[in-house]
Amino acid sequence: MSDDSAARAAVEEDCLLCRVTEADEVFQRRRVWEDEHWRLSVVLRGAVAGFAHLEPRRHIPYITDLAGPEAATLGPVLARATSAVREATGADKVYVSVFGDRVPHLHFNLAPFHPGGPLVGGAGQVRADAPRLDRVAHEAAAASVRRVLGG
Ligand SMILES: [Zn+2]
Repeated sequence: MSDDSAARAAVEEDCLLCRVTEADEVFQRRRVWEDEHWRLSVVLRGAVAGFAHLEPRRHIPYITDLAGPEAATLGPVLARATSAVREATGADKVYVSVFGDRVPHLHFNLAPFHPGGPLVGGAGQVRADAPRLDRVAHEAAAASVRRVLGG
């Protein structure tokens, strides 16, 4: 075993989502679909029926680490998974969020939204008491992202 694969094996051993059977038990979820790169599991607890985790089979810590075949296949897989959740739950739309605060193995939280239902939407991600930034800060961030992308 090379140093690289030994290090990878150690990380995967520590990662709950790499121990998928255990993850399914911890999150009380049921695997509903998988292919060679991705798997989709529906969580069987909480306030939202049909809430699902879409995650790569391979250990990819954060969205910013996304690369290779998972990066190449994400679009079609995300489209298929969100459409299935929407159709199956009769949702108005499906919210998709990626946090990475608790489990450092990339996973997309797919949450079917019903008007008047338990989800509060994007506004719920910002503290109500958070001060609004001035335009200069927003312009600087936009310019910086453009620069990083080579624009
Ligand atoms: Zn992992």
